[in-house]
Amino acid sequence: MPTVERRVVRLVKGEWKALTIGLLCTVGVAGVEFAIAKLIQYFVDLATHKDLAGLDRLMAVVFLVAACRYFLTSGQLYYMVLAGQNMSRKLRQQIFRHMQHLPLSFFQSKQSGALQSTITIDVNLVENSTKLARDLISEPVKVIGGLIYIFVLNWRLASVALLAMPFMLYVIIRRGRKIRRITQDLQDRYGSFVSVLEEALRGIRIIKAFGMEKYEIARFEEQNNAAFRTSMHVQKKIASIKPLVELLGTVGIAAVLWIGGRDVARGAMSGGELMGFLYVVHMMVTAASGVGQMNATRSQVLAAAERIYREVLDVVSDLTDKPDAPPLPPLVGHIEFRNVTFRYPDGTEALSDVSFTIQPGESIAVVGESGAGKSTMADLLLRFYDPIAGQVLIDGFDLRDVTQGSIRNQIGVVPQTTLLFSGSIRENIRYGKPDATEEEIDAAVSAAHLTRFVERREDGLDSALGGRADGLSGGEGQRVAIARALIRKPAILLLDEATSALDSVSERSVQEAVEENKNQRTVVLIAHRLSTAARADRVLVFHRGRLVEQGTHTELLALDGEYTRLYRAYSHGIVDMAVS
Ligand code: ADP
Repeated sequence: MPTVERRVVRLVKGEWKALTIGLLCTVGVAGVEFAIAKLIQYFVDLATHKDLAGLDRLMAVVFLVAACRYFLTSGQLYYMVLAGQNMSRKLRQQIFRHMQHLPLSFFQSKQSGALQSTITIDVNLVENSTKLARDLISEPVKVIGGLIYIFVLNWRLASVALLAMPFMLYVIIRRGRKIRRITQDLQDRYGSFVSVLEEALRGIRIIKAFGMEKYEIARFEEQNNAAFRTSMHVQKKIASIKPLVELLGTVGIAAVLWIGGRDVARGAMSGGELMGFLYVVHMMVTAASGVGQMNATRSQVLAAAERIYREVLDVVSDLTDKPDAPPLPPLVGHIEFRNVTFRYPDGTEALSDVSFTIQPGESIAVVGESGAGKSTMADLLLRFYDPIAGQVLIDGFDLRDVTQGSIRNQIGVVPQTTLLFSGSIRENIRYGKPDATEEEIDAAVSAAHLTRFVERREDGLDSALGGRADGLSGGEGQRVAIARALIRKPAILLLDEATSALDSVSERSVQEAVEENKNQRTVVLIAHRLSTAARADRVLVFHRGRLVEQGTHTELLALDGEYTRLYRAYSHGIVDMAVS
C-alpha cells in the first residue's frame, strides 16, 4: 500500500493544471522580490548622489514592477485556491461514494459524528497540501535565489548572515514532529465532539422529555473544552516556531547591520547595496520561517489524510458482489433460510441454525420478544450481512451469488421508524422508483390509502415534508413509506411494525398493507403486536436466535408454547393499558 505521503502527492498531482499556473505566478512573485531589492539599492544610491533625473526614471520602473506584482499575486492566490478546493471537492466525493457502498456493519461500528468530521474537517486540512506544494517551490526559490544574490554582492557579509541558519533548521524539524502527534489527537477529539453534537440534535426529543438539557450541555462543554485545549496545544507549538525563527533571523540582521555598516563607512560597499542586501536577508528569514510553518502544515495534512484513509477509504467491504454475479431475475417471491447461523462481529449469536421456507404470495408474521433475532433475519434477507453458516435463498438463488442491487430492488421495505427525506411527498414516494410515471405514483398513493390525505393538502403531492416527516402524523408518514415500498411492485414486501403500542393509526396502515398485498406478493411482517400477527397466513416464532415454532395463529395457540406465552403477555399488556 502506498504511503500516506504518496497518496497525498497523487491527489495534489490531479490538480496539475491550476497548480502549474499558480506555481508559475508564485515563482514570478519571488522574482519580483529580487527586483524590489535592486530597486531599493538604486534608489538609495541615486539619492545619495543627488541624481534627481535618475530617480524620476526609476519611478517608471517601480510602477512597472508594482503592476507585475499585482497580476502575479492575484494569479497565484486564485489558482492555488482553485487547485485546493477542486482537490477537496473530489476527495469529499470519493469518500462519500465509498461510504455509500460500505456495508451496514461499518456504520454500526462507527460513530456517525466521527465520519462527519472526516468528510468535513479532515478534508479541509488535506486541502492545505496545495499550499504546501506552493511553498515547497516558492520558499526554496527565495532562499536559494537569496543566497546567490547576497554571496555575489558581498560574500563576507553573506557568511555572517548565514550563521543563524543551522539553529533555525533544528528548531523547525524538532517542533514539527511534535505537532504531527498532537494533530492526530486533535482530530480524534473533533470526532467525539461532532458525535456528541450529532447525538444531541438527533435525540432532542428524548433530551427534553427526560429534562436532560443540563447534562447534555455539560457533556458538550466537556468535549468542546477538550477540543479547545488540544487545539491550543497545537497552536502553541506552531506559534512558538515562527517567532523563534524570526528571533534568530533578527540576530542575523543585527550582525549584518553592524558589520555591513562598517563596510559602508570604509567605502567597501555602497549604502544602496547594504539596503538591498538587508531586504533580501529579511526575505530569506521570512521564507525560512515559512519552512517551519510548512513542516507544521505537512504534519497536519498527513495526520488528516491518514485518518481519511484509515477510517474510510481503506475500509474494504466484506459484502461485495462476486465478479461475475448475475442479477436476480424477476422474482416470484419464494424465500428459504437453510440452517442459517449468524453472529455479529462482537460475537453475539443472533441466529442459530434457523431453517424455514415461505411460499410465494404467503403472508408471514415474525414474532418474538425483543432481541430474539427478528431484525437480524430481515437484514440477512436484504443481504446486509452474510450468514456465518447456512444459506439464504430467494427463488432458489443463494443471495451471495447474485448482485446486491438486484436483491434489494425487488424487496419493498417499510421500516419501523419512518424516515422520510426532505422534499415533497411525490419525491419521497419516487425514492422507491426514480423513473416512476405519474400513473405509478397515483397507484402507489391509492394502494397506501394516501389519496384523501394528499387531497386535503393544499399542494397535494407537491407538499413539502421536513427531514423527519414534519407535519405528518406517525400513521401518515408510514403510509408514505408504504407507498414508497409499493411503487416498486416488489415481489417481497418486508414490513417492520412500529413498536409503540399506542400508535394504533400506524398499526392500521400496516394491517391494511398486509391484507391488501396478500396473495399478490410475499409479505414478511415483523410483528410487535400479536393482533397483527393473528391475521397473517402463518407465524414464525423466534426465541433467543432460534426459530422455535411456526404455524397459523390457531395452531400455535393450541401448542401452548412460546407463542402462547407471548400472546398472554401481550394480552395482559393490552388489559393493563386499558385499565390505567
Ligand atoms: P429483534 O429484532 O428480535 O429485537 P435483533 O435481531 O435486533 O432482535 O437482535 C438479535 C440479537 O443480536 C440480540 O441479542 C441483539 O442484542 C444482537 N444485536 C443486534 N444488532 C447487533 C449489532 N449491530 N451488534 C451486535 N449485536 C447485535
